[in-house]
Amino acid sequence: MSDENDKNTRISDLGEFGLIEHLTRKVQLHNESSIRGVGDDAAVMDYSGRRVLVTSDLLLEGIHFNLMYTPLKHLGYKAVIVNISDVLAMNGFPEQVVVSLGVSGKFGLKHIEDLYEGIHLACDKYHVDLVGGDTTSSVTGMTISVTAVGSVEPEKAVFRGGSRVNDIICTTGNLGGAYMGLQLLEREKEVFKKRPGVQPDLSGYDYILERQLKPEARADIIRLLGEKGIVPTSMIDISDGLSSDVLHLCHHSNLGCKIFQEKIPLHKETEKMGQELDIDPTTAALNGGDDYELLFTIPTSEYDKIKEEEKILPVGHMTSPDFGCYMVSTSDHQIELKAQGWSKQKG
Ligand SMILES: [Mg+2]
Repeated sequence: MSDENDKNTRISDLGEFGLIEHLTRKVQLHNESSIRGVGDDAAVMDYSGRRVLVTSDLLLEGIHFNLMYTPLKHLGYKAVIVNISDVLAMNGFPEQVVVSLGVSGKFGLKHIEDLYEGIHLACDKYHVDLVGGDTTSSVTGMTISVTAVGSVEPEKAVFRGGSRVNDIICTTGNLGGAYMGLQLLEREKEVFKKRPGVQPDLSGYDYILERQLKPEARADIIRLLGEKGIVPTSMIDISDGLSSDVLHLCHHSNLGCKIFQEKIPLHKETEKMGQELDIDPTTAALNGGDDYELLFTIPTSEYDKIKEEEKILPVGHMTSPDFGCYMVSTSDHQIELKAQGWSKQKG
Protein backbone atom coordinates (compact mmCIF):
# COMPACT_ATOMS: atom_id res chain seq x y z
CA MET A 1 0.00 0.00 0.00
CA SER A 2 1.52 3.33 -0.99
CA ASP A 3 1.69 6.34 1.32
CA GLU A 4 -0.58 8.26 -1.03
CA ASN A 5 -3.28 5.63 -0.63
CA ASP A 6 -2.74 5.47 3.12
CA LYS A 7 -3.82 9.08 3.57
CA ASN A 8 -7.27 8.26 2.26
CA THR A 9 -7.63 4.72 3.54
CA ARG A 10 -10.00 4.38 6.42
CA ILE A 11 -9.17 1.99 9.22
CA SER A 12 -12.50 0.25 8.74
CA ASP A 13 -11.51 -0.63 5.15
CA LEU A 14 -8.72 -2.84 6.47
CA GLY A 15 -10.62 -4.45 9.34
CA GLU A 16 -9.01 -5.25 12.66
CA PHE A 17 -6.89 -8.17 11.50
CA GLY A 18 -5.88 -6.42 8.31
CA LEU A 19 -4.84 -3.38 10.32
CA ILE A 20 -2.70 -5.38 12.76
CA GLU A 21 -1.08 -7.23 9.91
CA HIS A 22 -0.43 -3.98 8.05
CA LEU A 23 1.10 -2.29 11.10
CA THR A 24 3.31 -5.21 12.14
CA ARG A 25 4.34 -6.57 8.74
CA LYS A 26 7.93 -5.39 9.08
CA VAL A 27 8.50 -6.56 12.64
CA GLN A 28 11.57 -8.73 13.07
CA LEU A 29 12.30 -10.35 16.42
CA HIS A 30 15.52 -9.30 18.19
CA ASN A 31 15.50 -11.43 21.34
CA GLU A 32 15.95 -15.17 21.93
CA SER A 33 13.30 -14.94 24.63
CA SER A 34 10.71 -14.08 21.94
CA ILE A 35 9.68 -17.53 20.76
CA ARG A 36 6.50 -16.45 18.98
CA GLY A 37 5.46 -12.87 18.27
CA VAL A 38 2.49 -11.30 16.52
CA GLY A 39 0.20 -13.62 14.59
CA ASP A 40 -1.01 -16.26 17.03
CA ASP A 41 -3.49 -16.21 19.90
CA ALA A 42 -0.73 -15.30 22.35
CA ALA A 43 2.95 -14.47 22.26
CA VAL A 44 5.33 -17.14 23.56
CA MET A 45 8.40 -16.21 25.60
CA ASP A 46 11.14 -18.23 27.22
CA TYR A 47 12.72 -16.70 30.32
CA SER A 48 14.03 -19.84 31.97
CA GLY A 49 16.33 -19.12 34.89
CA ARG A 50 15.65 -15.39 34.98
CA ARG A 51 13.30 -13.11 36.88
CA VAL A 52 10.55 -11.80 34.60
CA LEU A 53 9.66 -8.10 34.83
CA VAL A 54 6.26 -6.89 33.65
CA THR A 55 4.98 -3.31 33.60
CA SER A 56 2.09 -1.53 31.94
CA ASP A 57 1.03 2.04 31.20
CA LEU A 58 -2.27 3.42 29.97
CA LEU A 59 -2.29 6.74 28.10
CA LEU A 60 -5.52 8.63 27.43
CA GLU A 61 -5.93 11.49 24.99
CA GLY A 62 -6.76 14.68 26.85
CA ILE A 63 -5.39 13.32 30.12
CA HIS A 64 -1.86 12.11 29.36
CA PHE A 65 -1.27 13.66 25.95
CA ASN A 66 -2.60 16.48 23.83
CA LEU A 67 -2.60 15.91 20.08
CA MET A 68 -2.66 19.66 19.40
CA TYR A 69 1.09 19.69 19.96
CA THR A 70 2.14 16.04 20.21
CA PRO A 71 3.14 14.47 16.88
CA LEU A 72 1.79 10.90 16.72
CA LYS A 73 5.20 9.49 15.88
CA HIS A 74 6.62 11.03 19.06
CA LEU A 75 3.65 9.78 21.05
CA GLY A 76 4.23 6.20 19.89
CA TYR A 77 7.90 6.52 20.74
CA LYS A 78 7.23 7.93 24.20
CA ALA A 79 4.54 5.34 25.01
CA VAL A 80 7.15 2.61 24.55
CA ILE A 81 9.95 4.54 26.30
CA VAL A 82 8.04 5.08 29.55
CA ASN A 83 7.56 1.31 29.87
CA ILE A 84 11.15 0.52 28.93
CA SER A 85 12.22 2.97 31.63
CA ASP A 86 10.22 1.08 34.27
CA VAL A 87 11.87 -2.22 33.38
CA LEU A 88 15.32 -0.58 33.49
CA ALA A 89 14.48 0.81 36.94
CA MET A 90 14.41 -2.80 38.20
CA ASN A 91 17.99 -3.17 36.87
CA GLY A 92 16.79 -5.39 34.02
CA PHE A 93 16.38 -5.01 30.28
CA PRO A 94 13.10 -5.02 28.36
CA GLU A 95 12.70 -7.65 25.63
CA GLN A 96 9.08 -7.50 24.51
CA VAL A 97 6.21 -5.02 24.30
CA VAL A 98 2.51 -5.52 23.68
CA VAL A 99 0.65 -2.48 22.34
CA SER A 100 -3.11 -2.02 22.49
CA LEU A 101 -4.91 0.84 20.89
CA GLY A 102 -8.35 2.41 20.98
CA VAL A 103 -9.06 4.88 18.15
CA SER A 104 -12.09 6.95 17.28
CA GLY A 105 -13.33 7.75 13.78
CA LYS A 106 -11.36 11.01 13.58
CA PHE A 107 -8.17 9.02 12.95
CA GLY A 108 -7.26 7.60 9.55
CA LEU A 109 -4.76 4.94 8.65
CA LYS A 110 -2.00 7.51 8.14
CA HIS A 111 -2.37 8.64 11.77
CA ILE A 112 -2.07 5.10 13.10
CA GLU A 113 0.88 4.44 10.83
CA ASP A 114 2.65 7.52 12.21
CA LEU A 115 2.03 6.30 15.75
CA TYR A 116 3.42 2.86 14.87
CA GLU A 117 6.44 4.40 13.19
CA GLY A 118 7.37 5.84 16.59
CA ILE A 119 6.62 2.53 18.31
CA HIS A 120 8.85 0.62 15.86
CA LEU A 121 11.61 3.22 16.20
CA ALA A 122 11.72 2.87 19.99
CA CYS A 123 11.58 -0.95 19.73
CA ASP A 124 14.50 -1.02 17.28
CA LYS A 125 16.58 1.47 19.25
CA TYR A 126 16.14 -0.43 22.52
CA HIS A 127 16.23 -3.91 21.00
CA VAL A 128 12.70 -4.76 22.05
CA ASP A 129 10.24 -7.00 20.18
CA LEU A 130 6.67 -5.97 19.48
CA VAL A 131 4.96 -9.33 20.05
CA GLY A 132 1.27 -8.56 20.21
CA GLY A 133 -1.59 -6.25 20.97
CA ASP A 134 -5.10 -5.32 20.12
CA THR A 135 -6.91 -2.52 18.32
CA THR A 136 -10.45 -1.46 18.85
CA SER A 137 -12.64 1.47 17.93
CA SER A 138 -13.34 4.06 20.58
CA VAL A 139 -15.82 6.90 20.95
CA THR A 140 -13.49 9.15 22.91
CA GLY A 141 -10.32 9.85 20.97
CA MET A 142 -7.19 7.78 21.36
CA THR A 143 -6.17 5.36 24.09
CA ILE A 144 -2.80 3.61 24.11
CA SER A 145 -1.85 0.82 26.45
CA VAL A 146 1.68 -0.55 26.37
CA THR A 147 2.90 -3.51 28.40
CA ALA A 148 6.62 -4.24 28.53
CA VAL A 149 8.21 -7.53 29.54
CA GLY A 150 11.86 -7.94 30.44
CA SER A 151 14.19 -9.88 32.65
CA VAL A 152 16.91 -9.61 35.26
CA GLU A 153 19.22 -12.14 36.85
CA PRO A 154 17.72 -13.11 40.24
CA GLU A 155 20.57 -11.64 42.32
CA LYS A 156 20.58 -8.35 40.37
CA ALA A 157 16.94 -7.32 40.72
CA VAL A 158 16.73 -3.91 42.42
CA PHE A 159 13.68 -2.74 44.33
CA ARG A 160 12.65 0.60 45.80
CA GLY A 161 13.20 -0.61 49.34
CA GLY A 162 16.82 -1.66 49.83
CA SER A 163 18.68 1.51 50.81
CA ARG A 164 20.68 1.82 54.00
CA VAL A 165 21.66 4.88 56.04
CA ASN A 166 24.41 6.94 54.35
CA ASP A 167 23.89 5.35 50.92
CA ILE A 168 24.57 7.93 48.22
CA ILE A 169 21.57 9.04 46.15
CA CYS A 170 22.45 9.40 42.47
CA THR A 171 20.64 10.58 39.38
CA THR A 172 21.65 10.23 35.75
CA GLY A 173 20.93 13.54 34.04
CA ASN A 174 19.41 16.97 34.30
CA LEU A 175 15.89 17.30 35.70
CA GLY A 176 12.90 19.57 35.14
CA GLY A 177 13.45 19.94 31.39
CA ALA A 178 10.41 17.88 30.35
CA TYR A 179 8.18 19.98 32.60
CA MET A 180 9.50 23.25 31.17
CA GLY A 181 9.02 21.86 27.65
CA LEU A 182 5.39 21.12 28.51
CA GLN A 183 4.86 24.63 29.91
CA LEU A 184 6.21 26.10 26.67
CA LEU A 185 3.89 23.92 24.55
CA GLU A 186 0.91 24.86 26.74
CA ARG A 187 1.74 28.56 26.45
CA GLU A 188 1.94 28.39 22.67
CA LYS A 189 -1.30 26.38 22.53
CA GLU A 190 -3.10 29.19 24.37
CA VAL A 191 -1.64 31.78 22.00
CA PHE A 192 -2.79 29.71 19.03
CA LYS A 193 -6.31 29.33 20.45
CA LYS A 194 -6.65 33.11 20.80
CA ARG A 195 -5.04 33.93 17.49
CA PRO A 196 -5.34 30.99 15.10
CA GLY A 197 -2.78 31.07 12.33
CA VAL A 198 -0.06 32.54 14.52
CA GLN A 199 2.96 30.27 14.29
CA PRO A 200 4.17 28.99 17.66
CA ASP A 201 7.42 30.50 18.90
CA LEU A 202 9.42 27.47 19.97
CA SER A 203 12.82 28.62 18.78
CA GLY A 204 15.82 28.19 21.03
CA TYR A 205 14.15 25.51 23.13
CA ASP A 206 14.80 22.33 21.12
CA TYR A 207 16.28 20.51 24.07
CA ILE A 208 13.42 20.91 26.55
CA LEU A 209 10.84 20.20 23.82
CA GLU A 210 12.61 16.95 23.04
CA ARG A 211 12.73 16.09 26.74
CA GLN A 212 8.94 16.39 26.82
CA LEU A 213 7.99 14.97 23.43
CA LYS A 214 10.66 12.37 22.76
CA PRO A 215 12.37 11.26 25.98
CA GLU A 216 14.95 8.47 26.12
CA ALA A 217 15.28 5.66 28.64
CA ARG A 218 18.63 5.12 30.37
CA ALA A 219 19.57 1.64 29.19
CA ASP A 220 23.15 2.95 28.93
CA ILE A 221 23.24 3.47 32.70
CA ILE A 222 22.05 -0.07 33.47
CA ARG A 223 24.76 -1.36 31.13
CA LEU A 224 27.35 0.89 32.80
CA LEU A 225 26.40 -0.25 36.31
CA GLY A 226 26.66 -3.85 35.13
CA GLU A 227 30.14 -3.24 33.70
CA LYS A 228 31.24 -1.61 36.96
CA GLY A 229 29.87 -4.52 38.99
CA ILE A 230 27.51 -2.24 40.89
CA VAL A 231 24.06 -3.38 41.98
CA PRO A 232 22.25 -0.33 43.42
CA THR A 233 20.63 -0.85 46.82
CA SER A 234 17.41 0.76 45.55
CA MET A 235 16.22 2.31 42.30
CA ILE A 236 13.28 4.06 40.60
CA ASP A 237 12.86 6.04 37.38
CA ILE A 238 12.00 9.72 37.70
CA SER A 239 8.52 9.92 36.23
CA ASP A 240 6.85 12.10 38.87
CA GLY A 241 9.68 14.45 39.85
CA LEU A 242 12.76 14.09 42.05
CA SER A 243 10.78 14.86 45.21
CA SER A 244 8.04 12.24 44.77
CA ASP A 245 10.45 9.62 43.51
CA VAL A 246 13.09 10.03 46.23
CA LEU A 247 10.22 9.85 48.74
CA HIS A 248 9.26 6.47 47.25
CA LEU A 249 12.81 5.20 47.90
CA CYS A 250 12.69 6.58 51.46
CA HIS A 251 9.24 5.15 52.18
CA HIS A 252 10.03 1.67 50.86
CA SER A 253 13.46 1.64 52.57
CA ASN A 254 12.02 3.10 55.78
CA LEU A 255 14.65 5.88 55.80
CA GLY A 256 14.96 9.64 55.55
CA CYS A 257 17.09 11.58 53.06
CA LYS A 258 19.02 14.76 52.59
CA ILE A 259 19.45 16.13 49.09
CA PHE A 260 21.28 19.31 48.15
CA GLN A 261 19.71 21.90 45.87
CA GLU A 262 23.12 22.88 44.46
CA LYS A 263 23.63 19.26 43.35
CA ILE A 264 20.37 18.99 41.40
CA PRO A 265 21.38 19.00 37.72
CA LEU A 266 19.58 21.59 35.57
CA HIS A 267 19.97 22.23 31.86
CA LYS A 268 20.58 25.81 30.73
CA GLU A 269 17.36 25.79 28.65
CA THR A 270 15.42 24.71 31.76
CA GLU A 271 16.86 27.71 33.63
CA LYS A 272 16.21 30.09 30.73
CA MET A 273 12.60 28.93 30.30
CA GLY A 274 12.16 29.19 34.08
CA GLN A 275 13.18 32.84 33.94
CA GLU A 276 10.89 33.52 31.00
CA LEU A 277 7.86 31.85 32.60
CA ASP A 278 8.72 32.79 36.19
CA ILE A 279 8.92 29.17 37.32
CA ASP A 280 11.71 28.12 39.70
CA PRO A 281 13.72 25.48 37.80
CA THR A 282 14.40 23.62 41.07
CA THR A 283 10.63 23.33 41.59
CA ALA A 284 10.36 21.93 38.06
CA ALA A 285 13.07 19.36 38.87
CA LEU A 286 11.43 18.40 42.17
CA ASN A 287 7.82 18.27 41.04
CA GLY A 288 7.74 18.29 37.25
CA GLY A 289 8.34 14.68 36.30
CA ASP A 290 8.49 13.01 32.89
CA ASP A 291 12.30 13.21 32.81
CA TYR A 292 12.83 9.40 32.84
CA GLU A 293 16.26 9.66 34.38
CA LEU A 294 17.10 6.95 36.90
CA LEU A 295 17.38 7.62 40.62
CA PHE A 296 19.26 5.06 42.68
CA THR A 297 21.29 4.58 45.83
CA ILE A 298 24.70 2.95 46.27
CA PRO A 299 26.75 2.28 49.40
CA THR A 300 29.56 4.79 50.04
CA SER A 301 32.03 1.90 49.59
CA GLU A 302 31.00 1.74 45.89
CA TYR A 303 31.37 5.47 45.27
CA ASP A 304 34.98 5.28 44.03
CA LYS A 305 33.82 3.11 41.13
CA ILE A 306 31.56 5.82 39.72
CA LYS A 307 33.00 9.13 40.93
CA GLU A 308 34.66 9.80 37.54
CA GLU A 309 31.48 9.00 35.59
CA GLU A 310 29.93 12.16 34.15
CA LYS A 311 26.61 10.37 33.64
CA ILE A 312 26.15 9.57 37.34
CA LEU A 313 25.45 12.54 39.56
CA PRO A 314 25.23 12.34 43.37
CA VAL A 315 22.47 14.56 44.76
CA GLY A 316 22.47 13.59 48.44
CA HIS A 317 22.35 10.66 50.83
CA MET A 318 19.95 8.51 52.83
CA THR A 319 19.54 9.22 56.55
CA SER A 320 17.88 7.58 59.54
CA PRO A 321 14.08 7.78 59.35
CA ASP A 322 13.77 10.21 62.27
CA PHE A 323 15.68 12.87 60.31
CA GLY A 324 12.85 13.05 57.75
CA CYS A 325 13.20 13.90 54.06
CA TYR A 326 14.78 17.27 53.32
CA MET A 327 16.47 19.36 50.69
CA VAL A 328 19.25 21.72 51.80
CA SER A 329 18.69 24.89 49.77
CA THR A 330 21.47 27.02 48.30
CA SER A 331 20.72 29.51 51.10
CA ASP A 332 21.31 26.69 53.61
CA HIS A 333 17.69 26.21 54.67
CA GLN A 334 16.30 22.73 55.19
CA ILE A 335 13.14 22.35 53.16
CA GLU A 336 10.91 19.34 53.70
CA LEU A 337 10.30 17.32 50.56
CA LYS A 338 6.69 16.73 49.63
CA ALA A 339 5.12 14.45 47.09
CA GLN A 340 3.56 17.53 45.51
CA GLY A 341 5.13 20.90 46.17
CA TRP A 342 7.55 21.59 48.93
CA SER A 343 7.13 23.85 51.94
CA LYS A 344 7.75 24.02 55.68
CA GLN A 345 11.24 24.97 56.74
CA LYS A 346 13.25 23.09 59.29
CA GLY A 347 15.78 24.76 61.60
MG1 LIG B 1 8.50 4.03 37.42
